[in-house]
Amino acid sequence: MKKATKYIHAGAVPDPTTGAIMTPIYQTSTYVQEAPAKHKGYEYARSQNPTRKALEDAYAEIENAKHALAFSSGVAATDAVIKLLQPGNEVICANDMYGGSYRLFTKVFAKFGINFIYVDTTDAQNVANAITEKTKLVWLETPTNPLMNITDIAAVAAITKQKNILLAVDNTFASPALQNPLDLGADIVMHSATKYLGGHSDVIQGALMINSDELREQLYFIQKSCGAVPGPMDCFLVLRGIKTLGIRMKAHCENGKKIAYWLQQHPKVAKVFWPGFETHPNHAIAKKQMADFGGMISFTLKDESMEEAKRVLSSTHLFSLAESLGGVESLINHPATMTHASIPREERIKNGLSDGLIRLSVGIEDADDLIEDLSKAIG
Ligand SMILES: *Cc1c(COP(=O)(O)O)cnc(C)c1O
Repeated sequence: MKKATKYIHAGAVPDPTTGAIMTPIYQTSTYVQEAPAKHKGYEYARSQNPTRKALEDAYAEIENAKHALAFSSGVAATDAVIKLLQPGNEVICANDMYGGSYRLFTKVFAKFGINFIYVDTTDAQNVANAITEKTKLVWLETPTNPLMNITDIAAVAAITKQKNILLAVDNTFASPALQNPLDLGADIVMHSATKYLGGHSDVIQGALMINSDELREQLYFIQKSCGAVPGPMDCFLVLRGIKTLGIRMKAHCENGKKIAYWLQQHPKVAKVFWPGFETHPNHAIAKKQMADFGGMISFTLKDESMEEAKRVLSSTHLFSLAESLGGVESLINHPATMTHASIPREERIKNGLSDGLIRLSVGIEDADDLIEDLSKAIG
């Protein structure tokens, strides 16, 4: 089945009691049992909920996975993956990734004796070199937030498979429409469904997609034991969002391309970070593993001062100044003071995330209007 069709029908089964075409919002905490332990597969809503079940089925389908689990946020999904580990285990992760993942790793899990080793994963050899007998997990993000670095998922998977190490990929930026890490050899896919999957900036949610039955059981045990489950209303919203994922991503990509090229020729712009450019250092890999290049773009101005960046960030009208991404509306963000403020400045600068960097989440408005807005703001 082609992707656009899959997004419309994934997880959708007419409601068995009424035939309702849309999965109802089962707003209930418990289910009445006929006799002790005689029930319809639903006991208590932290463990099972029909709206969540429909969404989890949809999540599995759209990432070509056998199983999926929904969580109350993207970081809760990440949290569940790290809880597979034991004190003393090591995790190799990208030195350029979502600030909230970095904060979870360094501020929450490091104190439980799990060690995180940060490498430049754009060269798979760096991952191979960092592996020790304590390494249990490699955590990738590609494209990265906000520098749009690309890691070769298949190359890293070849290394982790050989060493029996789990490979998890944060696929939030690409969305399943552009990239499917399980097909490239990853063991776990993580999404902040808050972004492109929900698509309308109205819900916080996370997802994990897996093929292994054993891993699914372990992660389901963590999901129900730790309890970071999404409510049924939120599941309904993401189910609805997924239906238009194909058409939205097409529009995000088209607008992203137009804006990336427009920025690149602007006399006041210094550097544009977008994997669609042939000059992007990882363009060949992006082209190989992604169907298109997405609507996330970062750029710096020739005047690299924080003041100039702040002036532009405060001058747009269609691009709203806000954290988050992946919604139908365009957003502009200042990673240094907003999404990535939890990364120490020294660490940030070392990894190329400068004070003047501006990140765009290009929405699906008319590209001409978006360009006019940016044009006026940059001046
Ligand atoms: C937003 C985001 C997360 C965290 O997801 P939440 O839903 O905000 O908890 C993780 N990774 C990436 C790449 C993100 O953009």
